[in-house]
Amino acid sequence: MTKEYLNTGYGPNFLVIDIGHKDFTALINPKTAFWTLVRKDHLGSIISDGKFISSFKKKEDEFLKEMETLRFGLKPSAVYFNPTDRCNFNCTYCYIPEKMRKHGANMSEEKLIEGLSILKKYFKTTVPKGRNPQIIFHGAEPLTNKEAVFAGIEKFSGDFDFGIQTNATLLDDEAIDFVLKHKVGIGISIDGPDAKTSDKLRRDWKGEGYFNQIIKVIDSLKDHPGFNVICTITTENMGRLSETVDFFHKSGVKVCMLNIIRCTQEKSRTVKPDDAEAAKHYIKALERSWELYKKTGRKLIIANFANIILGITAPSARKLMCDISPCGGGRCFFAVAANGDMFPCSEFVGVKEFKGGNLFKDSIPKVLETNVFRKVSERQTEQINSCMNCAIQHFCGAPCPAEAYTMNKKDITNRGAFCEFYEEQVRYAFRLIAEEREQDFLWKGWDKGMKQNFEYLA
Ligand code: SF4
Ligand code: SF4
Repeated sequence: MTKEYLNTGYGPNFLVIDIGHKDFTALINPKTAFWTLVRKDHLGSIISDGKFISSFKKKEDEFLKEMETLRFGLKPSAVYFNPTDRCNFNCTYCYIPEKMRKHGANMSEEKLIEGLSILKKYFKTTVPKGRNPQIIFHGAEPLTNKEAVFAGIEKFSGDFDFGIQTNATLLDDEAIDFVLKHKVGIGISIDGPDAKTSDKLRRDWKGEGYFNQIIKVIDSLKDHPGFNVICTITTENMGRLSETVDFFHKSGVKVCMLNIIRCTQEKSRTVKPDDAEAAKHYIKALERSWELYKKTGRKLIIANFANIILGITAPSARKLMCDISPCGGGRCFFAVAANGDMFPCSEFVGVKEFKGGNLFKDSIPKVLETNVFRKVSERQTEQINSCMNCAIQHFCGAPCPAEAYTMNKKDITNRGAFCEFYEEQVRYAFRLIAEEREQDFLWKGWDKGMKQNFEYLA
């Protein structure tokens, strides 16, 4: 048999990336997302190590197939359901246009129940028996239409796993009892460790912030298994991210997300942080979460970063959201607006051209096959000039098509706003792996049912 070489002829392509570690560098096969960490002084020997090349070649097709299934073989199992266009808040970076939030529609209880029955019937055809599809009531502020939302949860309890993403201002004691009793997942938005920072961009229409009220809700829900908090990273709070991590940890929060702002709407771009600057603060905050874990033995999982680690170490365990292209939009989930209009993701709700149909009028499988849905669900890094040669294209995914579309003169085949931010977090994740610290960022039991399918010892 002829000897195969890396990067020529039939040999596999591996790219070397600097992960910012003193001893290790990463070697990545971009197509399969297979990687290995190599000691810098062994790099020369690994590229001519025939045993390594042939071991990889034997598994290459399997890896490609796994990536193909992950990217193109999944069916939706969740819906971001907007029961209202309206919100009692006027946050600077909201992706729902102001006019909609002020004067938009409220879905009636009757329509919401009709919508959930349609979805129940549809998911019977896509979700395996024994598993519940997910409905996440999303916004605008879903609890401005609380009666209809709670009536839907009550009627379909057992048919769906429900979640509510809320600004928490309408979660009174009675509502908290209801969500606990019905085991509804709750995500609360809060942007900093104190009122001055958190309320800066998150205020009601009169300009009032609610930090002090929100922290009481956090205290009531902190032990609820489906509870998490979301902090959106902007120019206004990135310098305080580490303190925010301290604050969440001290408040007993177990899972949070530190999400970089989406720049789909023009107003959001006014608080868009500089890529490199945001990455620096973000990584410092991740380090802080690790220090707190080591000091107290209690983890604060930063779920969006944990998902990046999983994307690297166990691709099939990652949750499909934004960090792979095609992203989860229109594939693993879709969004329904308050009038029943369907979009690939909530991020598109304010972008009319991406309406694929209407839940009450059109067949769901047909909507998923419309050109506008396919534009999102078939978007690939391989078609994006700046990403097609990037070694980490399957760990970053060139997010986000909605942002890319609105920021690049309607050209979806372009990367989103934060290339360097994603690059840096992938480098950091590799450094953690090199230092054998990555498990400290993951929740207990994440690997239940997983199996290792490649081992090579040099
Ligand atoms: S990348 Fe953008 S469009 Fe895709 S799931 Fe994330 S927010 Fe939605
Ligand atoms: S956005 Fe940047 S880091 Fe992400 S895949 Fe494209 S080039 Fe790579």
